[in-house]
Amino acid sequence: MDAHFSTLTRLQDALGPNGWTRDPDLIAPHLVEWRDRWSGNTPLMLMPSTTGEVEIILGICHEAGLAVTTQGGNTGLVGAQIPLGEVLISTKRINAIRAIDPVDDAIIAEAGVILSQVHDAAHQIGKRFPICLASEGSATIGGLISTNAGGVHVRRHGMMRAQVLGLEAVLPNGTRYDGLSVLRKDNTGYDLKHLFIGAEGTLGFVTAATLKLVAQSPFTTVALLALDTPEQAVRLLHRLEAQTGAVAAFEVMNRLGVELAQKNCANMAVPFGNVPKWLALVEFEGPDPDLAVRVETALMAAMEEGLVQEGVVAQNQMQAKSFWALRENMSAAQKPEGAAAKHDVSVPVSKIPAFLVQADQAARQIVPGCRIVAFGHCSDGNIHYDVIQPQGVSAQSFQGLVPALNEAIHDVVMSLNGSISAEHGIGVSRREEFLRREPASHLAMMRAIKAALDPHNIMNPRVLL
Ligand SMILES: Cc1cc2nc3c(=O)[nH]c(=O)nc-3n(C[C@H](O)[C@H](O)[C@H](O)COP(=O)(O)OP(=O)(O)OC[C@H]3O[C@@H](n4cnc5c(N)ncnc54)[C@H](O)[C@@H]3O)c2cc1C
Repeated sequence: MDAHFSTLTRLQDALGPNGWTRDPDLIAPHLVEWRDRWSGNTPLMLMPSTTGEVEIILGICHEAGLAVTTQGGNTGLVGAQIPLGEVLISTKRINAIRAIDPVDDAIIAEAGVILSQVHDAAHQIGKRFPICLASEGSATIGGLISTNAGGVHVRRHGMMRAQVLGLEAVLPNGTRYDGLSVLRKDNTGYDLKHLFIGAEGTLGFVTAATLKLVAQSPFTTVALLALDTPEQAVRLLHRLEAQTGAVAAFEVMNRLGVELAQKNCANMAVPFGNVPKWLALVEFEGPDPDLAVRVETALMAAMEEGLVQEGVVAQNQMQAKSFWALRENMSAAQKPEGAAAKHDVSVPVSKIPAFLVQADQAARQIVPGCRIVAFGHCSDGNIHYDVIQPQGVSAQSFQGLVPALNEAIHDVVMSLNGSISAEHGIGVSRREEFLRREPASHLAMMRAIKAALDPHNIMNPRVLL
C-alpha cells in the first residue's frame, strides 16, 4: 500500500467522519481565493475541532513526513493558504470563544473564530477589539495572527502582534505550546508566542489566543476631505493629531480609485462636485463630548491654510458608513478593469509623497498608459499601490511587463527604507523576491528557527522561506 495513502487513512480515522472530507464540491471553495490568483488541489481536507485533535494529526504528519497547509478564513492575499498537493487543515471547527473578562480586558478565542465575532463579543461587555479590516466578516483569529494583520487602526493600536497577550499552538511535531497567558507583563525568557505571529503557518498551528480588549470610544467623528497632494495628506495627519489627539484612522484614496469605485460598485457617492485628486478619510475617537467641536475647529483651520480644499463631516452613522464603503471598495472596484499588479508596501510616513512620485514615474516608464490606483493607510506609511493594465492592451502583454514593474516599484520602496510587504505577508507570491532581497543574516536566523521547529518541513512548505 502507498505510504501516503495509509497515512491519509490514519488521519481520517483519527478525526472520525465529521473531521475530514474528500468531497470535491465541499473542498472546491477552499482551493481558490478571493482574487482568483491561485487555485490548488489537495487529497484530503481535515477539520479538527479541538487542540488535542490537532496534536494527533500533526503528530501523524510529522512521523510520515506528510506536508500540510493550514487555512482559516481564506482571505489571505499572498496565496499561502491554498494547498498545492498538501493535506489541507481547516480551522473552521475550532471556533469557540473560551472566555471573556472585562476586568482583565481580555478575550480567549480559538483559531477559527471570525474577527467580526470577536468584535460582537467585545461589544456585548462594553469593550472593543481594535483590529478592523474589510475582510472582517471572514478572516479568522488564527489567520490574523499568522499574517500579523494590520488594518486601519495600526498607528493608534498597533498590528495584530500588539493585541496578543498569550497563545496556544501545536508544533509541527504534534506537541503543544501552552502559552495562553493573560498577563500584560512577563519577562521570563524569550517571548515564544511571537514566533507564531506573522509566521504564515510555517512554524506551527495556532489553536487559540488571548487578545487584549480596549475601552469603547463613546464619541467618534468621521470626515471625508478633498486634497490636492499627498504632501497635504501627510501634513494634515500630523496637524490633526496635534490639535485633536484623537485620530483613529487616516486613510487616503487617489482620484482613479474613487472613480472606479463609482463606476464599478453600487451606491458610491462622493459629496463633492468633482472627484478630487486625493481623498482623505479621517476617523476620530475619544471619551470627550467636545470631540466634534474640536475636530471642526481643526478642520476649519486646515482649510483656511489651504491644506484641505473641501470637507464633509458625517452627520450620522449612515453617512459615516458610506464614506467607509468607498475606502473598503478600492480593491473590488478594480476587478472589472482587468489585470493589475498589486503592491502592499510601506515607507516612513514622511516619504509617502516621494514614493508616489517615484513609483508613478517608474510604472509609467515600464507600462505606458497604465492606470494607477493608490490608496491605504497613510497614518502608518502603508500604501496599496496597484497598477492596472492600460485600456486596449491585452492582459497577456501586460503580464509580461509585471516582473519588471514589481522590481522597479520595490526598488523605489527599498531606496526609501521601506518594506515590500507591509501587512499581507510574503506567502508564495513574494517569496522569490523576499529571498533575493532579505539580508542573508536574517534568512539564516529564520531558517535556523524553521529547522528547529519543523525539521521535516511539513508546515506550509512552499511559503515564505
Ligand atoms: C477585502 C480584503 C481586505 C483586506 N484588508 C486587509 C487589511 O486591511 N489589512 C491586512 O493586514 N490584511 C487585509 N486583508 C488580508 C487578509 O484578510 C488577512 O491576511 C487575514 O489575516 C487572513 O486571515 P484568514 O483567516 O482569512 O487566513 P487565511 O487566508 O486562511 O490564511 C492566511 C495565512 O495564515 C495561515 N493560517 C491561517 N490560520 C492559521 C492557524 N490557525 N495557524 C497557523 N497558520 C494559520 C495560513 O496558512 C496562511 O499562511 C484583506 C483581505 C481582503 C480579502
